[in-house]
Amino acid sequence: MTFFGRSSGFTEGKDLNSSTFTEILNKDDIKEIVILNNTRAEIYIKEKSIEGNEEYSKKAKNPFYRKGSALYEYNFGDLQNFENKLDAAKAKHGLSFNYAYKEPISILDTIIGFLPFILLIAIWLFFMKRMSGGGSGAGGGGQIFNIGKSRAKLFDENTKVKTTFKNVAGLEGAKEEVQEIVDFLKNPEKYTKLGGKIPKGALLVGPPGTGKTLLAKAVAGEAGVPFFSLSGSDFVEMFVGVGASRVRDLFKQAKQKSPSIIFIDEIDAIGRARGKNSMTGSNDERENTLNQLLTEMDGFGTESNVIVLAATNRAEILDKALMRAGRFDRQIYVDLPDLHERKEIFDVHIKPLKLSNDVKLDFLAQQTPGFSGADIANLCNEAALIAARNNKTAIHHQDFMDAVDRIVGGLEKKNKVITPREKKVIAYHEAGHATVSWMLEYAAPLVKVTIVPRGQSLGAAWYLPEERKIVQTEQMLDEMCATMGGRAAEKLIFDKISTGALSDLEKVTKQARAMVTVYGLNEEVGNVTYYDSSGNDSFVKPYSEETAKTIDKEISKIIEGQYQRAIEILDQHKDKLDILAQKLLEKEVIFKDDLLEIFGKRPFEKDEKISDELSASEE
Ligand code: ADP
Ligand code: ZN
Repeated sequence: MTFFGRSSGFTEGKDLNSSTFTEILNKDDIKEIVILNNTRAEIYIKEKSIEGNEEYSKKAKNPFYRKGSALYEYNFGDLQNFENKLDAAKAKHGLSFNYAYKEPISILDTIIGFLPFILLIAIWLFFMKRMSGGGSGAGGGGQIFNIGKSRAKLFDENTKVKTTFKNVAGLEGAKEEVQEIVDFLKNPEKYTKLGGKIPKGALLVGPPGTGKTLLAKAVAGEAGVPFFSLSGSDFVEMFVGVGASRVRDLFKQAKQKSPSIIFIDEIDAIGRARGKNSMTGSNDERENTLNQLLTEMDGFGTESNVIVLAATNRAEILDKALMRAGRFDRQIYVDLPDLHERKEIFDVHIKPLKLSNDVKLDFLAQQTPGFSGADIANLCNEAALIAARNNKTAIHHQDFMDAVDRIVGGLEKKNKVITPREKKVIAYHEAGHATVSWMLEYAAPLVKVTIVPRGQSLGAAWYLPEERKIVQTEQMLDEMCATMGGRAAEKLIFDKISTGALSDLEKVTKQARAMVTVYGLNEEVGNVTYYDSSGNDSFVKPYSEETAKTIDKEISKIIEGQYQRAIEILDQHKDKLDILAQKLLEKEVIFKDDLLEIFGKRPFEKDEKISDELSASEE
């Protein structure tokens, strides 16, 4: 600020032209002339003359004019000529002014003048660097200026994508759908010749680790095109406009390399529905980014051959505008693998491993329900590590089983201190679950019960639930009854209940609440749902106080009913419950076969069929 202030306040209308200068000079109004930088002259007018002359005093009224400073400036051009002119005038008219020279402003002055700015910029750079994620290494200050550039990882001719459909196991349906995209990229003419439009985007929807990134990469690999990969959250930065400019930059790059594929992981980070939760207005930046993405997708014609693949596990919260025709108009579902697919994924991931021939992949696939592709990849690696730790030369079946247990339940805590009395409670608790679920038609049959503590839980029971697309009231109730079986057994045997059933209670409470408020499976509240599929969490409950009371009453009625039912069932089969609990205490882990031996065939057993999905219930 000081620097700019220095070259005295007002400049406008201060400059004299040559004839006015001569006029003033000849009138002998000039007190002093100061020559600056050998190019300009400051003209100081005598006080007397200013008072006596209307023109001067008008000028002097300028708020920037200070008494005693120069009233005019004059660009004289050549210094020698100017000096001659002044000397001539002095001689001719006997003028009394003197003239002086002022050195050009020194460098030091300049720097001091700029100091505040330099300081400001330094602070700004510092914060920018911190924002941009620790300044990824050697880039240093330079990368600040790339803040609006996209952060996409690029795989192109140089770092070729080597992934192909061979690397993607299972996902047959999804592969078929993306096969079309590969075709589009390979020979677009085939489609455009008939007037068809090439799709611009496809959305891969599915839980994490199911191979969405892998699939997108395989598309690029199959089509042999460059692949831009980044995550939705890479767009989001604290600074206004950064997201949008990154989107612009990304599309620019992709178009230059077209045909190409852009893959945006976790698109929900930017694609969440607009105009909601905007109480703070802090989402404006995200909205701008989303708008820019939509604009870009609309903007490029089909001839640009850029296809955008995006992944999310929550398609329902995305802005509807994203799904409109010409944008992500295809949705490809990438689900958790089923039994058969898990086997195939195992096949892919055991390739680099050294296996002993006792490994039974079919059995492993059966034991890993709910595992995603990424989990299975992790499992294979874990098995290899376990085998190595035990100095084996090949990976055995047991190593895989240990790895499964470890991934499902966390590390086994063999030395966790449990008193014999506690152990007995745990055994009866788990046996309670097992007994109730064995006796109920719709409860999932149990495959494994253990009282070896793992992670947070003290014991666990694994079930084989049927795959159901819709669930009827009886089925839900049976499941809840089995979940209450643990606590019911404690009550029946010890006449005391414990804190050990926390996660059971949590589970049934959630289920009961869902029955009442979501699915309308209840008596008092009726066929009403308070579920909002748009995913808006509202602060205000969508029902009245009175309804809230009814809901609470219904929930506890349902849970209490199932608890009593579980106690009755256990009472009827108390002898078997005892046997089972004893066996558990003895062996720590028991399987379905032991249950068959104790209980005999399940009362409602239809044909023995291996159902695929299996879920673990803790405690
Ligand atoms: P997502 O993007 O869906 O979260 P990824 O594609 O990143 O999942 O998957 C992570 C890893 O899991 C992959 O690199 C791969 O090793 C493994 N994986 C997942 N699904 C499969 C599959 N269907 N076939 C083979 N490997 C898979
Ligand atoms: Zn339990």
